[in-house]
Amino acid sequence: MTETPTTAPVSATMIATANPATGEPVGSWPVDGAATVAAAVERARVAAQTWRELGFTERKRALQRWAAHLVVNVDEFCALISAENGKTADDAYLEVVTAVEHLNWAAVNARKILGPKKVWPGMMMANHEAVIEQRPHGVVGVIGPWNYPVYTPNGSIAYALAAGNTVVFKPSELTTGVGHWYADAFAAANPALPEGILSVVSGPGETGRALVESGVDMIAFTGSTATGKRIMAAAAARLTPVVLECGGKDAAIVAEDADIAAAADAVAWSAMANSGQTCVGTERCYVVASVLDEFLAELTKRVTDLRPGSGPDASYGPMTLPSQVDVITKHVEDALANGGTAVVGGPESIEAPFVGPIVLLDVPEDSVAVREETFGPTLTVRSVRTVEEAIELANASEYGLASSVFSRKRGMEIARQLRAGATSVNSPAAYAAIPALPFGGVGESGIGRIHGAAGLLGFTRPHSIARQRFMIPGMALLSFARTESTLSTVRKLTALRFGRAK
Ligand code: NAD
Repeated sequence: MTETPTTAPVSATMIATANPATGEPVGSWPVDGAATVAAAVERARVAAQTWRELGFTERKRALQRWAAHLVVNVDEFCALISAENGKTADDAYLEVVTAVEHLNWAAVNARKILGPKKVWPGMMMANHEAVIEQRPHGVVGVIGPWNYPVYTPNGSIAYALAAGNTVVFKPSELTTGVGHWYADAFAAANPALPEGILSVVSGPGETGRALVESGVDMIAFTGSTATGKRIMAAAAARLTPVVLECGGKDAAIVAEDADIAAAADAVAWSAMANSGQTCVGTERCYVVASVLDEFLAELTKRVTDLRPGSGPDASYGPMTLPSQVDVITKHVEDALANGGTAVVGGPESIEAPFVGPIVLLDVPEDSVAVREETFGPTLTVRSVRTVEEAIELANASEYGLASSVFSRKRGMEIARQLRAGATSVNSPAAYAAIPALPFGGVGESGIGRIHGAAGLLGFTRPHSIARQRFMIPGMALLSFARTESTLSTVRKLTALRFGRAK
């Protein structure tokens, strides 16, 4: 398990962000301690009543006004994302657009998924009306990472708000400016709404810890597995529900019947885009031996000319987190020392803060480059005899976030056998851009789901209501007035209904 340390310049009282490519300062904010966090949670609690009482239709309008504000001002927003995170302007744009898709989906679908549902009360309770009403938890604390500083927290925030919760958001200390811009946009788009529906607290992990311990009604976390475990342990003190979206070591499987050029294109993008700093980026690739040479040739063609940088021609940006360069160096050197070979790039590709694309072949499965999250523009490729062997190796990871499969005929069959929260067949990470699909991992990749109906439901708790519509004379079961004959009737009916299974 890799713990990703955070290294934003933080003093006791101020937090500052800088462009990871140039070191140029972007902004600074006060570090919010426990008292400030508690005040933000209190404001959110007051606002929660107004927001809940607005109902689905008015909340949808408010969320869609916010989406419109994000789209109309997208260039300003993307410039800030690029400056603070380092990703290219095009990648920043794609991130915002995908977040807006999710925002709109949550707003539009909340009523259908969360509205009251009548259910059949069963024969014994047929004189009752049975209703499930989904209640928002109240105040949700959202803690986010820096790699997709809009898309990932938005996957919690949009769904939590659409479900009627208010949100206190602690962005990563590396992308604090983006977090503020995003939340300020909600207020700017909805000047008539009270403050506190969506607010931001700034600071390092300590501020996140204060948020977890503040008495919020739920925590939605996206970040490393190590931090996720710490948060779950702290949340246990109050039995605060958590959803944890953590790290991954995603595998791609290339079968003998795959469209090899298309598979190479997808794997190249999945592994290298955003400098490989993608939780669902492909880090391991298992290729059936008969198509290995063709796959490597196609992959090399697509990867060799990729250039990290900070200008308009860059394929991807710098490493956002300076210390990640050390992790990448360790993984690459270990892989080569243990018998792997570099097909593209190598240790010489690492020139902090930039890392050129690195493809490693036949690295031992027990090495850190295969077992731990590298979170850089690197990929291990291994030849396998059969698809079955590929499935076994893909599943032999403590992580289980997502995966991809490339096969013309067997895609769905292979996908069903993978231990992961999501799988894309013949494309990279498509599930992440389809709002109706739940998102989240298994094992060390986390628990719970964001996105889709499951995501909306996760930000609520069911309240079950059974209303007696009329009394059946002589049939009071849940009463001391119950008679022998009532019970004997129930015995006969039960024997008739369930006692004859063969
Ligand atoms: P991180 O765990 O270092 O930090 C994430 C957030 O947690 C930050 O805001 C940080 O300040 C806060 N934090 C740190 N310690 C805390 C504590 N004790 N209590 C409360 N909050 C605390 O992760 P990161 O480096 O920002 O992000 C990279 C990681 O996130 C990678 O492992 C990546 O795979 C993962 N990630 C997962 C997903 C997903 O959806 N599964 C998406 C994006 C990133």
